[in-house]
Amino acid sequence: MHLIDTLEARIAQLDAQHLRRRLRPTQSPCGPHVTLNGTERLAFCSNDYLGLANHPAVVEALAQGVRLHGAGSGASHLISGHSQAHEALEHKLAAFVGPQFGAGDVDDAPGGSGCRTLFFGSGYMANLAVTPALAATGEPTAIFSEALNHASLIDAVRLARGARVHVYPHGDLQTLETQLAQEPATNKLIVTDSVFSMDGDIAPLPQLLTLAERYGAWLIVDDAHGFGVLGAGGQGVLAHFGLNSPHIVYTGTLGKAAGVGGAFVAACPQVIDWLVQKARSYIFSTAAPPAMAHALCTSLDVIAGPEGHARRAHLQTLIAHLRARMADSRWHLLPSDTPIQPLILGSNETALAVSAQLEAQGLWVPAIRPPTVPSGTARLRIALSAAHSLEDVDRLASTLRALE
Ligand SMILES: *Cc1c(COP(=O)(O)O)cnc(C)c1O
Repeated sequence: MHLIDTLEARIAQLDAQHLRRRLRPTQSPCGPHVTLNGTERLAFCSNDYLGLANHPAVVEALAQGVRLHGAGSGASHLISGHSQAHEALEHKLAAFVGPQFGAGDVDDAPGGSGCRTLFFGSGYMANLAVTPALAATGEPTAIFSEALNHASLIDAVRLARGARVHVYPHGDLQTLETQLAQEPATNKLIVTDSVFSMDGDIAPLPQLLTLAERYGAWLIVDDAHGFGVLGAGGQGVLAHFGLNSPHIVYTGTLGKAAGVGGAFVAACPQVIDWLVQKARSYIFSTAAPPAMAHALCTSLDVIAGPEGHARRAHLQTLIAHLRARMADSRWHLLPSDTPIQPLILGSNETALAVSAQLEAQGLWVPAIRPPTVPSGTARLRIALSAAHSLEDVDRLASTLRALE
């Protein structure tokens, strides 16, 4: 009884601070035009950056995958849940991102060089796998964690028992270098988001890799918002910067630009093999439905093909258009070249009020509040998708400007 009273009081407190969160069921598939409470809204909420979540070929592949492989996997990967559909996706992903992992490209031989990948049910689970497993080698371990990292990376660091943890301020290479230089641990892991999910800026990965190599550290990169979007072929942030190193462990999510769900880790074969031995979120969880992996193979074909190129080019046009339309307004967009275009509003109340005003005009742009972002930096997180038209973006800009 006491617990229920406490919970009610705490939720009332959240409400009073404009921090209470509520679910909003949609009545239509993910896309720019979403039905909410029976009315259509122009939405700038999703991470479906390429518009693949409701792409006919991907939808059909998922349906076909179910017909071929059934609804569920039935077990974890190491028991009997690992299907040839998962295996095929892992090979396809390794061929796609492999060139970013050092000398060779794809190599499946145990102990070989090059790149292998491991499929997970979600990005959260993939991130929970990597850092704790790489900290569980028995070597003294130190972790260098970027201050604005995603919750899943923060939780992963918390699970890395026994490791010494240094948090370095956002983008602060100088502090990171000092921490690296003073750290005696032999196993060093730098952990960072590539594209910061609530700010849209990109981590200085070339400089981070230089530091990693100088101090014998590994670079763990979460490219949730870069995979499919960045790089000429959509291979993600490593290709965007032209980086290539065997000392990178890369996570890409597959529920954002890839439009379906799940995630993968790409790394050298030894790291992947170690994850299979040690990563608890991999070992103790039912494998995602093989149909998902089947659909993701089609999604990857779209990302890597001419249609993917065209969608990325259109997305860049939309980003430039929104920024140009907002340039001389009183609204302050954070500097960002990615589809994440945050509008900083400050207080929770203002962020909620502006979001509600937009909603009254038929637009859906979510207000993001603490603890997702630091206190006093509540914002609208405008997320653009290749499925938006130039007119959609114009309508957002005009509506915002009319609220000035
Ligand atoms: C969304 C996100 C994740 C989690 O991925 P899911 O597949 O949604 O679990 C991890 N890291 C970052 C930076 C994200 O934005």
